[in-house]
Amino acid sequence: MSRAIRGVKKLQALIQAESQAETARIIQRVQREAGLDLEAAEFYVRSAVLELGSRVLERVLHNVGVGRQDKPRVCADKHLPRKMVSTGVRVKTLQTIVGPVRFARSRYVCPGCGAVEYPGDTLLGVEQTGFSPGLRRLMTRAGLGGAVGGRA
Ligand SMILES: [Zn+2]
Repeated sequence: MSRAIRGVKKLQALIQAESQAETARIIQRVQREAGLDLEAAEFYVRSAVLELGSRVLERVLHNVGVGRQDKPRVCADKHLPRKMVSTGVRVKTLQTIVGPVRFARSRYVCPGCGAVEYPGDTLLGVEQTGFSPGLRRLMTRAGLGGAVGGRA
């Protein structure tokens, strides 16, 4: 079995274990707080499921934006090429269709011109925005693209 497949299986097992534990917790809380109030139960279950979804996304994105680069990042913005320097990890919160998701990614700075890059943002398509691609699609469909600012 390849390392990638083992990694995916491990992640699936983690998600399944978390999901089962979460399901049991949700049932307990619904029984305790909503009783036989179906509407209250519906809203509670929906928010709990979305919360679980955010945590699953967070786990999927864990380590995507950090770690060694295959090749050094180079900036040549109106100057001779210079190697960009990592200045550590910054966390940003992405708004997604299942709610806010924290995303840690490495920050690189050009010592020549001070340009800043986040390769993880490029990888996920969230450069210069705090809105996930899925949420942006929904916003566009709802005609909110321009009305809701995209910076983060
Ligand atoms: Zn530069």
